[in-house]
Amino acid sequence: MELWDIPAIDQHAHNLLKPEAIASRPYAAAFTEAHHPDIIDNHVCHTLFYRRSLRDMADLLKCKPQESEIIASRNNLGLEELTKVCFNAANLDAILLDDGFLPQEILPWQWHQQFVSVRRLLRIEDVAQNLISQVNSFEEFRERFRAEIDPPPPEVVGFKSIAAYRTGLEIKPVELAMVKDKFNQIKQTTGEQDLPTDNTITVIATQGSNLKSLETGNECVSPREQVPRLSDKSLIDFLIIQTLEVAAKHKIPIQFHTGFGDPDLDLRQANPLHLRFLLEDNRFRDVPIVLLHTSYPYTREAGYLASVYPNVYIGLGLAIPSLSMAGMRNIISQLMELAPVSKLMYSSDAHLIPDLYYLGAKWGRKVLGEVLDDAVKDADLTVKEAEEMAVAVLRGNSDRVYGLNV
Ligand SMILES: [Zn+2]
Repeated sequence: MELWDIPAIDQHAHNLLKPEAIASRPYAAAFTEAHHPDIIDNHVCHTLFYRRSLRDMADLLKCKPQESEIIASRNNLGLEELTKVCFNAANLDAILLDDGFLPQEILPWQWHQQFVSVRRLLRIEDVAQNLISQVNSFEEFRERFRAEIDPPPPEVVGFKSIAAYRTGLEIKPVELAMVKDKFNQIKQTTGEQDLPTDNTITVIATQGSNLKSLETGNECVSPREQVPRLSDKSLIDFLIIQTLEVAAKHKIPIQFHTGFGDPDLDLRQANPLHLRFLLEDNRFRDVPIVLLHTSYPYTREAGYLASVYPNVYIGLGLAIPSLSMAGMRNIISQLMELAPVSKLMYSSDAHLIPDLYYLGAKWGRKVLGEVLDDAVKDADLTVKEAEEMAVAVLRGNSDRVYGLNV
C-alpha cells in the first residue's frame, strides 16, 4: 500500500538546533540516544538505522551515499534550504513541537512555521524548574505554576511530561504538606537569597546527595549547560496531578515519555504499566494520555493499555525511524495485535536535524503500508478498511485527539 500522498501530522517532535549547535556535533550523534563519544564515533556507523539513513539521505540530496558527501551536500544547502528539502519531501501538514529539549541550543518554534504549520507541547517539568528560583514560598510557586498552565498559552495543544526520566511513571497523589516540605528543602538547598536570575541555573534537586547537577544529557538539558534539575518524586507527582486537573478542565492531552530514551533514563521506571494509578483515577478519565515512543520495548504493554482504557493513545516516534525495518514493522504489528487503530498516532520524535523528519515520514509510511497489506492478506481488513486506517494513523487520529482542524 502506497501512502506517500497522505499528508501526515507529526504529533511529537522537537525544534531543530541552531546552525552553530549542529556544526558542533558529529552527524552520527543525531542517530543515537547515546552520548558517549565511543558509541557516537565508533558504533553508530554499525547500526542498521545509520546505514539505511545514509543511503536515503544520499538519494534525497542526490549525492554519493557516504557520510562525507552527505555532510558536504548539507553544508552547501545551508540549514534553511536543507529544512525546506526535508520537510517538503516528508509531506507533513503539521508538527507538534516539544521545545523543552536543549532549550539553549534550539531555534524557536516560530522559526519552523516558515516550512509547516506548528503547534506547541508544553513541558511541565521545565515550567516548574524555571519558576522555583523566582518564587519565595510554596504557595506562590503553586499559584504561579497553575497560572502558567491554566489556561495554557494559545499555541499549546498538549502537555508533555518527562517524569519517566526523573522519578518514574508510578505517579500517585501526594499529601500537600509533604510536597510543601520538599519544596522548602529545595529552596533551602539552593539558598534563597542568592538565587541567580539566569534560568540556566535554577533548581537544585534533593535526591540522594543534596546537590545533583546534570552530567549527562537527557530529554531536557544539554550536557554542556550543567543545569541542576528538578528530581524530587513527590514534587513531580504533585505537578503532574495539577497538570492533569488543568488538562481535564481544558480537554487537552498530555504526552508521557515512555520506553527507551537516552542513558539518563532508568528504563525499568519507563514501563507504561506504572501509570495504572493515574489511569484508574476517575478525575482524569477524559484526559487523552499519549504514551510516546511506542513504549518500546514495552510495546505490547502499551497496546494492552490502549485496548482497555478509552483515553490511552500511542505515539510511534523514536521507534520510527530508529529501529531496523523489521523492528519497525514488528512494533506496528505488535500494537495492532490488540490496540484499536483509532489509538495509534504517527510521530517521528525528530530532533536536532531536519533529516530525521524526512526519514521518519518515509519509513513510517512504508512500514505502516506493509503491516496493513499483511492485515489485508490475513483477511483482518478489507483494502478499503486498511486505506482508512492508514489515514487515521498518519493524521486523522492526531487531528481529532489534539483538536487541530488541520
Ligand atoms: Zn521527544
